[in-house]
Amino acid sequence: MNVILLGPPGAGKGTQARKIVDSYDYEYISTGDMLRKEVQSESELGQIAKSYMNNGDLVPDKYIIEMIVTSLGDLDSKNLIDGFPRNISQAESLDKKLIENKQEISLVLHMYVEDKELISRLSNRAVCVSCQTPYKLKFPDEINEITCINSYCDNSSIKIREDDNPESVARRISVYKEDTFPVVNYYKDLDVNLVDINAHRPEDEIFQEISKFLEV
Ligand code: ADP
Repeated sequence: MNVILLGPPGAGKGTQARKIVDSYDYEYISTGDMLRKEVQSESELGQIAKSYMNNGDLVPDKYIIEMIVTSLGDLDSKNLIDGFPRNISQAESLDKKLIENKQEISLVLHMYVEDKELISRLSNRAVCVSCQTPYKLKFPDEINEITCINSYCDNSSIKIREDDNPESVARRISVYKEDTFPVVNYYKDLDVNLVDINAHRPEDEIFQEISKFLEV
């Protein structure tokens, strides 16, 4: 069973993904988190990916597709995929892989929010250095006062993501519109089960709505 989270940067995909994983038995696969780990460990892929990510551009398909296909390889469990596919060619590769594995996409959750709200959210956001959980800063210095509340993070500190600066945020939103949004129509045309979720609402309200689709 494969559920895909689609939506612009700042839509709250990571936040909802964590809620879904806490309540349902899903394996969380986030290409953004995977790439950030590669950057942190200074692996070959990390060194290639870093500048693309910091600029807000997509990392080239040849690296991404290999990375995700490897992680989908032997999975017969329930996958929650966040950050992939991000363009039509990635969507086609995923289809091919799922057919090979005799799997399908059970649900696409398309979260939408207007640009102004996305920019405001991303300019007040910090993330846990260990698990990437996002935190909303009420004032800039709060970054020194908050530590991650997840028990397995052992009070890890939080930091501003390198791509959460105004230029990269603008670029990420424009890349989303140009490359990723067409994936929504790609799935609609294929009659994949896709639901549009208004993500400019309180987190718990959004989660309640998402839960209805997961419980079917
Ligand atoms: P957000 O949705 O907030 O922009 P992510 O954490 O999903 O952030 O991704 C961060 C960055 O990682 C992207 O801007 C891009 O550079 C890279 N990335 C993540 N997933 C992909 C992908 N499927 N294809 C290409 N690049 C990706």
